[in-house]
Amino acid sequence: MSEGIMIVLSSPSGAGKTTLVKLLSERKGFVTSISHTTRTPRSNEVDGEDYYFVNNKKFEKMIKNNEFLEYAKVFKNFYGTTKLNIFKELDKGNNVIFDIDWQGTNQIISQKLKNKLITFFILPPSRKELFKRLSNRDMKDKLIADERMKMFDKDVLHWKDYNYVIINNDLEVCYKQISDYIDCEINQKDSTYDVNLIKNHIKKLIS
Ligand code: 5GP
Repeated sequence: MSEGIMIVLSSPSGAGKTTLVKLLSERKGFVTSISHTTRTPRSNEVDGEDYYFVNNKKFEKMIKNNEFLEYAKVFKNFYGTTKLNIFKELDKGNNVIFDIDWQGTNQIISQKLKNKLITFFILPPSRKELFKRLSNRDMKDKLIADERMKMFDKDVLHWKDYNYVIINNDLEVCYKQISDYIDCEINQKDSTYDVNLIKNHIKKLIS
């Protein structure tokens, strides 16, 4: 049985990545990596499904015990991917989807693991739409949306670290694009990718 591949989806907050990860995980032979975090759960989140919610002490202990494949601090909280479950799934031949930020992605890239790695960076269609999405979350405080917009301007610069950058104009189209790129990579087929279109979109997003 061939070993599974690793698929990373990253995006600045509010680009619609969570739904894409859910859709991809419904494909046969695809599973999602469940991260550990020190963040408090949102009202709709379930421990062990969305994240394993742990306190700082437990997280620090896991770092010391070298349990993480990667970990990072994002918006004042720690997030990390444990090695054990991931390698178990990959060895079984399952493809593992990671919803992690650019810091974690760079850590995984630099480890040069034997498993194939495909990385996607998801962008919102416009700055206006991004602000709308951030303000609509369960964050009552507009200040948080403003803070995340500032974070966006920094995070978006990491698009260059990724294999593919995808603009999430429409969820279905975006999902199909990602899914098609994955199939092409698995079957070693060529695909088209317009990097100039991405560069222009980024210019517009940060101006
Ligand atoms: P949220 O708190 O909105 O669920 O996630 C905040 C950010 O943390 C997102 O960009 C998400 O991709 C990232 N994240 C979630 N889990 C992990 C992880 O295990 N490692 C890293 N490096 N980032 C993560």
